[in-house]
Amino acid sequence: MAAFDHLNFDHGAMAAANPQTDLVVLVESKRMLTGRNWHKERLFFMVSSARHFAQAARERGFTVEYVQAPTTPDGIKSVWAKHGQLDTVAAEASSFEQARQFGALGIKTVENDLFLTPRQLFAGWAEKQKSFVMENFYRLQRVRLGLLVEGDKPVEGRWNFDEDNRLPPPKNYVWPPRLLHERDEIDLAVAAQLGHTATDLWATTRAGALQALNHFIEHNLAGFGPLEDASTNDDWSLHHSLLSPYINVGLLHPREVVDAAVAAYDRGEAPIQSVEAFVRQIIGWREYINGMYWFLGEGYEQGNGLRANRKLLPVFTDSSKSRMNCVSSVVSDVEKRAWVHHIPRLMILSNLALITGVNPQEFLDWMRENFIDASQWVMVPNVIGMGVHADGGRLMTKPYAAGGAYINRMTQYCKGCAFDPKLRVGENACPFTTLYWDFLDRHREAFAKNHRMGQQLMGLNRLSDLPELRVRAAEVLEGLEKGLV
Ligand SMILES: Cc1cc2nc3c(=O)[nH]c(=O)nc-3n(C[C@H](O)[C@H](O)[C@H](O)COP(=O)(O)OP(=O)(O)OC[C@H]3O[C@@H](n4cnc5c(N)ncnc54)[C@H](O)[C@@H]3O)c2cc1C
Ligand code: SF4
Repeated sequence: MAAFDHLNFDHGAMAAANPQTDLVVLVESKRMLTGRNWHKERLFFMVSSARHFAQAARERGFTVEYVQAPTTPDGIKSVWAKHGQLDTVAAEASSFEQARQFGALGIKTVENDLFLTPRQLFAGWAEKQKSFVMENFYRLQRVRLGLLVEGDKPVEGRWNFDEDNRLPPPKNYVWPPRLLHERDEIDLAVAAQLGHTATDLWATTRAGALQALNHFIEHNLAGFGPLEDASTNDDWSLHHSLLSPYINVGLLHPREVVDAAVAAYDRGEAPIQSVEAFVRQIIGWREYINGMYWFLGEGYEQGNGLRANRKLLPVFTDSSKSRMNCVSSVVSDVEKRAWVHHIPRLMILSNLALITGVNPQEFLDWMRENFIDASQWVMVPNVIGMGVHADGGRLMTKPYAAGGAYINRMTQYCKGCAFDPKLRVGENACPFTTLYWDFLDRHREAFAKNHRMGQQLMGLNRLSDLPELRVRAAEVLEGLEKGLV
C-alpha cells in the first residue's frame, strides 16, 4: 500500500514490491478531501501527485488499485473484497493517527526510510538530553551521514555559518527566474473535480520534482544562506528551495536533495555558508522535528501551557480583515499559493497567534489546512513547540515573540503600513510592538523563572508607559477580533 505521503518506488513499502506478485493500492478517501477546510491548492497537489504515482506504477508493470472510497478503511476493505484478504504492507505511519488506522486494519509496516534517521536512533539521542538542542543533534548527523565533514571535523573549520547569514532584504537585487510547471490531463481533471484553478507553481510528478531540485541547485543554492531569514516585496520565495512538499510526500528523498547540494559545493558552485545552511535545514531541522514528534508522544499536540484561549482571528481566514500590512500580505500569499517561507510562518503568523493568545489547537488546525507541505508530524512540533510555545518550553526554551522592530529590520512590510513599528502606544502604534510588551506583561510570572527571558523582562520593567500600553493592547485585541485593526 502506498499512502499519499509515501510516493516513492525506491523507499518504504514499494522498495521490495514486485510487479509480478504485488498489487499497488492507493486510497483517495472522501474524508480526506472534505473532512476539513483544506486549501484547494494543497488538495490539488496531494491528489494529483498520488494519481500520477498510480500511473507511474502502471507504467512499471504493476497492477494498481486506485480506490475512491468514503474512508481509507472502506477503500482497503473494498480491495480485499475484490482480491481476497491479501497481506498488506505500508511504510511506517507518518502520524499517530495513521499508525492507529494501520493497526486497526492489520497492515504490516516496514521502516519509513523516507527519513534519514530511524525513530529508535533519534529516541536514543533524545533520552540522553537535558534540553533538546537541535544544533547538538545536527552535528552528530553531519558525522553519521558523512556530510560536509573530514572525519569528525566540519569542513572549513565551522559547524555553523549563521553569523554570516541573516542579512536584511537587499536593494536592487536581481532574483533568479521562476520554474513553472505545465499542467497535464491528470492535473486538469483533479483541478476540475475540486473546482479549483491550480497555479503552475507545484510539480505533481517525480520528473517535475527533480526539475525543481535542479532549478534550486542551479539558481538559488548559492544565495540561500545570506538571505534565508529575509522577506522582500520583490520576490515571494527569495532563494528558498520550495522543495518541502516533494520531500514530504516522497517524490524527492532527503538524501538525494542534500547530496545534490554538497555536489554543487564540491564543484565550487556554491559557498559553504549557503550549502551548510541548507544541509542543516534538511538533516538537522527536518529530521529533528520528525524525531521529536514521535519522541514527545501523542498528547503533546494538546499542549496549552500559556492557557491561550482566544478564537482564531478573522484575518487568518480573510487577509482583508486587518490593516497590519505584514499580516495581511502574508495571509494573502498563503491564500494564493498555500506557501510562505519559514520566517513569515514563525515571525508573522505564529508570532501573531502567540502574542494575541490564540488557542494553539485552533491555530494548528488552520496552519495544517492551509499549507501545501503540511503533515501532522511536521506541523505539531513546529506550531505547538516553536511557533506558539504551548508546550511549556519543552522544545524551545524561550518563545519566539517579537515586536515591530524585528519585522521592520527583516522585511519591507512596514513601509506600506498604516502603523509605525517604533510606537507602542497611541493610535498609530504597531500592534506587534504593543502586543509584544503586553504579552510579556501578561506572562511575567511564568517567564520570571526562565533565565533566557531575563533581558526581555528587564526591558519590560523599564517601560514608563505600561498603564497606557495595557489600555492600547486591549483596544488592539478587540480590534483584531472584529477584523478592524
Ligand atoms: C510554524 C511553522 C510551521 C511549519 N510547518 C511546516 C510544514 O507543515 N511542513 C514543512 O515541511 N515545514 C514546515 N515548517 C518548516 C519550514 O518553514 C518549511 O519547511 C519551509 O518553509 C518550506 O519551504 P522550502 O522548501 O522552500 O524550505 P527551505 O527554506 O528551502 O528549507 C529546505 C528544507 O528544509 C526543511 N526544513 C527547514 N526547516 C524545517 C522545519 N522547521 N521543520 C521541518 N522541515 C524543515 C524542509 O524540508 C525544507 O524544504 C514550518 C515552520 C514553522 C515555523
Ligand atoms: S508597522 Fe507593525 S503591523 Fe505594520 S507592517 Fe510593520 S510590523 Fe507589521
